[in-house]
Amino acid sequence: MFDSLTTQARDFLNQPIPQFINGEWRESDETIDVIDPSSGSKVATVAKGNQNDINLAIEAADEAFKTWSKLTPQKRADYLQKLADKMEENTKTLAQLEAIDVGKAFVNAEGFDIPFGIECARYYADFATKAVYDKQLDLTDIEARVHKTPYGACGFIFPWNFPFDLFMWNVMPALAAGNTAVIKPAELTPLTTLYVCKLAKEVGIPDGVINVVVGTGKSVGIPLIEHPKTRRLSFTGSPQVGKQIASMCGQRPIPCKLELGGKGAAVVFDDADIDNAVTQLAGAITLNSGQVCCTATRWLIHENIYDIFVEKVTETLRNTVIGPGMDPNTEMGPVVSQTQQDTILGYLDKGLKEGATQILEGGKISIKDHDGGYYVAPYLLEGLPQNICFREEIFGPTAFLVKFKDEAEAIELVNCLEYGLANSVFSSDLTRCNRVAEQMVAGNSWINAHNVFAYGLPYSGINLSGVGGGVNSPETFYDYLRDLTIARPLA
Ligand code: NAD
Repeated sequence: MFDSLTTQARDFLNQPIPQFINGEWRESDETIDVIDPSSGSKVATVAKGNQNDINLAIEAADEAFKTWSKLTPQKRADYLQKLADKMEENTKTLAQLEAIDVGKAFVNAEGFDIPFGIECARYYADFATKAVYDKQLDLTDIEARVHKTPYGACGFIFPWNFPFDLFMWNVMPALAAGNTAVIKPAELTPLTTLYVCKLAKEVGIPDGVINVVVGTGKSVGIPLIEHPKTRRLSFTGSPQVGKQIASMCGQRPIPCKLELGGKGAAVVFDDADIDNAVTQLAGAITLNSGQVCCTATRWLIHENIYDIFVEKVTETLRNTVIGPGMDPNTEMGPVVSQTQQDTILGYLDKGLKEGATQILEGGKISIKDHDGGYYVAPYLLEGLPQNICFREEIFGPTAFLVKFKDEAEAIELVNCLEYGLANSVFSSDLTRCNRVAEQMVAGNSWINAHNVFAYGLPYSGINLSGVGGGVNSPETFYDYLRDLTIARPLA
């Protein structure tokens, strides 16, 4: 299947991939094997960084900041647009690397992940040229303004589910605002992040503006947070690790943006377009094999339509084509690792033991000629909202169904957890949709759809799902600038 790889992807994978620090490729004594989840086989070797590499990367980012931050927004925008052009030329290669690394369906990577990430680079490049950097204050006897200025070298720590998009969503606004970056991708999925460094070098992004060190949380993540020249941190990942990172940042102290996990609910009323709800929700748990922070995994279905909804959604899920990410027919690939497969299957066991019923039988499956891959067929459970599978983030192709009678009960079920990332409501009554949407305690409420993303539409979580400037919006851009007041007494 790898016969179809572009020459660029093949060449990139065929030699050990070093780290990218100060515009140079830097080897390391230790390495990490990159595994293709579709087959369980090793596809690449990547240098494993350490404290010393982080020191070099932060020093480089700090030095580069002195000139990058002084460029005009237009000049920085020109660099980011050139990078976007180069990434666009390399869409197929990037999509193949993402599919091999994460296991996601190539068609999704090529049709969504890569183009949507590139659009982000263009959005923030353009935004930076129009942003307001100074605000005059109307004070008595003092001439004053608030001046927006970048922080310096920023640290970024990412998970493995959307490596390319998370890189774009977080790093592009920071760079456009004049900061420089040291990035720690997830040790499982470093490929597209490192490939973008190659493209950044080709288009002449100045050395030290983008640095990538691959490693574990302990070997690379902690030194990145603790380095005195790391001026702020953006973390995307689990709430458990997010809390530890927030307290480390608190000790420094530096600002820390957290984008954490979720346990989204979808409320389907009895006047909803059932076929649309079925398409949206089956799509939500099969997209990226359900490894999506904002996906809907608690399906609250009105009792009047419960049976027909279950009949249709189980039929749709049964027909999902599961296979290796690189197969063009694949609609849903494997999950990212053996550990993740074990976690998802462990939840199925625990949920059943706590009294849930499996209404769509799924779980571990093998795919012909890809026996070593980490495949999980979608499973649906129904039962009581006390069940562990209703309450905890599983991060796999699964949802837990609960029947409800009325609006008040549905809203109570949506809001009964500490997570607060994204929920949706389905009904043909838009007044009701808006009323319910406003009462959902989360960063995002979607109407008659799940997973609604656009540049200019703020996306962030609250409570256990995160805090800070979110992604994809003007607020994210301004979050990467600090306020400096400049004042002169007139009397
Ligand atoms: P994780 O928290 O285990 O790891 C995330 C990153 O943190 C990895 O790079 C990891 O190496 C690093 N890390 C781990 N321990 C660390 C430590 N002590 N110090 C510094 N760095 C450390 O998460 P994961 O399993 O990779 O990803 C899945 C989680 O990410 C899910 O909870 C998912 O919901 C969440 N997520 C959230 C969003 C969002 O936008 N809210 C987007 C994608 C994923």
